[in-house]
Amino acid sequence: MNPSFSSYLVNEPFGDPGLYVEIRWARRALLFDLGENQALSPTRLLRAGDLFVSHTHMDHFIGFDRVLRVALGRGKTLRLFGPPGLIANVAGKLRGYTWNLVDGYPLTLEVREFHPREIRSATFRAGEGFLPQEAPPCVTPDGLSEAPFPVLEDPMFTVRAIALNHRIPSFAYALQEQFHINVNKERLRAAGLPVGSWLKDLKQHLWQGQPDDFRFTATLYLEHRREEREFVLGDVRDRFVTITRGQKLAYVVDVRYDEDNEAKIVALARDADVFYCEAPYLDCDADKARERYHLTARQAGRLANRAGVRQLVVFHFSPRYTGQGDAIVREAQSAFEGG
Ligand SMILES: [Zn+2]
Ligand SMILES: [Zn+2]
Repeated sequence: MNPSFSSYLVNEPFGDPGLYVEIRWARRALLFDLGENQALSPTRLLRAGDLFVSHTHMDHFIGFDRVLRVALGRGKTLRLFGPPGLIANVAGKLRGYTWNLVDGYPLTLEVREFHPREIRSATFRAGEGFLPQEAPPCVTPDGLSEAPFPVLEDPMFTVRAIALNHRIPSFAYALQEQFHINVNKERLRAAGLPVGSWLKDLKQHLWQGQPDDFRFTATLYLEHRREEREFVLGDVRDRFVTITRGQKLAYVVDVRYDEDNEAKIVALARDADVFYCEAPYLDCDADKARERYHLTARQAGRLANRAGVRQLVVFHFSPRYTGQGDAIVREAQSAFEGG
């Protein structure tokens, strides 16, 4: 099986936190947190149109400036998602510069912040000097605070968030592929059909939930010619496609270990394929971790164990342990395996 998401940390584990997730076949990426991000090439950064911010402590937000600089003039729309206060923080960042000569540098920022009972959103356009245009808040009668709630719903995947206690709300995120589409290339070949971009269209139709009798025309590039052919979705699916469980990734940073946070994290990360979890402290410094509203490696391992994840990746190590990164990983891994 070829997984749809390939994910990696933006920096080494002592560097600023950040997770880059590429949707392999779509030339599209998601970026979780905006810490220092020099390690991402401009091409990669530009691919990330959806940006999820846990909270705006400096190590999670200082990279906003580079995103802005790289994206200016590309005619893009960037979407930012995060906790209450994000709109004011983005506005504050933008007010730190002068924008009188950006008419020819189109860029739009759509910022959405999630409160317990409402969603607020604002749009900032380069052509308007990035003056915020706030939309009326959207009320969510069920509230958003207790169970993981969707912040972005795409035909292919959903990103959910939960607000954790870091003395301020710190959002943890989970990215869930709705289901995974495996195309059997052997069977395609046997039927004389080529691979190519028509398979992307096929996947889109499946994710969009089109009915079995849905017809679509595909351009096929055969050995010596190009051909337009019409397919029936249900027929193509039954012959060449296997549907399996979708991939799931979870991202948790900057949170205190307590019962309430634990229950929320376990619910969010349940059965994830990869669980990216902060582990700034060793457990011998659990008091300090608690005081500063952070986790220890052992706590990260325990959370991973309770959530039943397949793989745990720890990061956001405190500089006090420079040279002891292995000890942090070992402590987390043994708690993960041992419960
Ligand atoms: Zn923080
Ligand atoms: Zn942090």
